[in-house]
Amino acid sequence: MSRTYDIDINDGWARFTHGAFACTVVSDGVLELGPAHANFPTADPAEIDDLLHRNYLPTDNVRLNQNLLVVNTGSQLILFDTGVGTMPDLGVSTFGTHTGRAVRNLRAAGIDPADIDIVAITHAHPDHCWGLVDAGGKQLYPNATVMVSEADFTHWTDLGKIADAPNEHMADHYRGAHANLMPYAEAGRLVTFSDGFEVVPGITAIATPGHSPGHTVYEITSEGSTMICWGDLCHHQVLLLQRPDWRFQFDYDGPAATAQRRRIYDLVDTRRHTVFAYHFPFPGLGHLRPDGDGYTWVPSPVEPARASAPETTGSGSGSGSGSGSGC
Ligand SMILES: [Zn+2]
Repeated sequence: MSRTYDIDINDGWARFTHGAFACTVVSDGVLELGPAHANFPTADPAEIDDLLHRNYLPTDNVRLNQNLLVVNTGSQLILFDTGVGTMPDLGVSTFGTHTGRAVRNLRAAGIDPADIDIVAITHAHPDHCWGLVDAGGKQLYPNATVMVSEADFTHWTDLGKIADAPNEHMADHYRGAHANLMPYAEAGRLVTFSDGFEVVPGITAIATPGHSPGHTVYEITSEGSTMICWGDLCHHQVLLLQRPDWRFQFDYDGPAATAQRRRIYDLVDTRRHTVFAYHFPFPGLGHLRPDGDGYTWVPSPVEPARASAPETTGSGSGSGSGSGSGC
């Protein structure tokens, strides 16, 4: 007999340092995606059940965290992805009331959204870019420049593609990306990029197209240590690490997604890089250990005593006020 536990975390944020960078993880809440079989359509259902059972996870509801990373380089404050947001026709109405908590938790961590200098997007799916504007369409990060791959910006803001969408949820992918990205583009504060783009010194975009046309992971290096912020390269800490060849239901190009997964898994394993995983159990920080044809997730220890108080280091050389953002 066994059971799983839902462990509540007060305020939904955590702090750690990476080289000289002060980092904060902020939760946007949990996505509940329903039965595992439907989320991994190319997998053997019995093997899904077996892997989940052996790892003490339920088979009837895949639950994915949304871990937003904030990096303070000492001169700039960079937010990676935004969560699903709170727009009335999208956001929380689609993903439930356990989501849409990013801004509240940023403030709980002592971070004023107005102090964010850059919002770097891994890809333009709902749970990664729909939190750029509020329920009324107003920019939630009024002093930030949004950075997104040219391929994803071009694809997901093209409302002409709605006509070919297979269902309303996929049609919303285009509507939501357009509603969230265009206000920043029209304000002249959106930059598109391709492979190898330098976000700021020490942070570089690596093109990993597959899950979406312009999916990007970010290599974050400080004082000789590298962390890979990998967005939706991998959605599940057991299933897609142990079985990299399985397809996730929202992969745009399944074989390409698998190839990128294997490439980046090998990179972080070979070079012993740290992984920051958007959808893994909070706070999503850890390493990979080779295990058969795949990998096992090795979470970094969480030390509650060290997370007791926000830092007071100021931020922001950019247009943000930068005063006392504490991250
Ligand atoms: Zn995602």
